[in-house]
Amino acid sequence: MTDVSPAQAAPAQPPAGDPFLTMAGTSRMQLSVVESHPVTPNMQRLLLTAPELGDFSYLPGQDMMLLVAGDGDRPVRRRYTIRALDPGRQLLTLDIVRHADGPGERWVRAAAPGVTVQGVGPRGKISPATDTDWHLFIGDESSLAAIFSMAESLPPQASATVILEVPTPADEQQLKAQTSVQLSWLHRDGSPAGEPDALVSAASAVPIPDGRPHAYVLGEARVVSAVREVLQARGLEPGQVSPKAYWGRGKANASRGEPDKDS
Ligand SMILES: Cc1cc2nc3c(=O)[nH]c(=O)nc-3n(C[C@H](O)[C@H](O)[C@H](O)COP(=O)(O)OP(=O)(O)OC[C@H]3O[C@@H](n4cnc5c(N)ncnc54)[C@H](O)[C@@H]3O)c2cc1C
Repeated sequence: MTDVSPAQAAPAQPPAGDPFLTMAGTSRMQLSVVESHPVTPNMQRLLLTAPELGDFSYLPGQDMMLLVAGDGDRPVRRRYTIRALDPGRQLLTLDIVRHADGPGERWVRAAAPGVTVQGVGPRGKISPATDTDWHLFIGDESSLAAIFSMAESLPPQASATVILEVPTPADEQQLKAQTSVQLSWLHRDGSPAGEPDALVSAASAVPIPDGRPHAYVLGEARVVSAVREVLQARGLEPGQVSPKAYWGRGKANASRGEPDKDS
């Protein structure tokens, strides 16, 4: 008898009536893995294809929601930011953090060429703000795809600072921005992900230039909340901070693909 893992079997399907089937402004598609390789020690790069990608469009920072096998009978959604899109070759790139376990992690582990998955996108409301003199991007490695995608989309005259926490120096990637970006890497060097101290200190110390700032704070839920508080205490208005909790330390994301509010 052949052993068939869930990822090799038919892709997880949404139940009839699931809002996954009918999200406004999105396309639903069956994506096939073309390639999967580590881009840095803790980050897997997946290239996926689907015919619908030929006329797909998205804003920098937006994501795809994938439907992956959950622990029980029902599939769960997991969200990953679009790192790149090549409509001509119908290729989508996702950069996904490797971590201990979870439905998304298990799907990534099994995602060999030919594996298929249901996807819906584009999702997400955070993209580079207009009418802004300075962009501040702060996050952990789960937000690297979003932060790089947004920073690389800024026009040459824009001004931006990026502060990214990653596990080790080998997890840094090269930013290819059109504008000059102040880029700082923070290394955990063995400390667990999702501790606020390093990003909170960096947010407390970053020089805020005159003019209209906009901050994007992405990553672990409690870290995002602590960094947002620091920036607001430093004078940014609520409308000048775009926070988004991507995951919650010690707690699986809800089946809709985001941390529960109490995370
Ligand atoms: C809009 C949006 C965009 C996102 N874009 C990306 C992206 O481009 N790349 C990316 O890697 N992630 C991204 N994420 C985060 C990703 O969806 C979460 O990390 C998700 O929890 C992974 O699902 P899972 O099934 O592997 O783990 P879950 O079942 O959610 O969690 C299982 C366990 O793993 C832990 N865990 C989850 N994520 C991490 C992590 N990053 N580091 C350490 N421990 C973790 C949890 O604390 C929990 O204990 C995004 C999230 C959102 C909401």
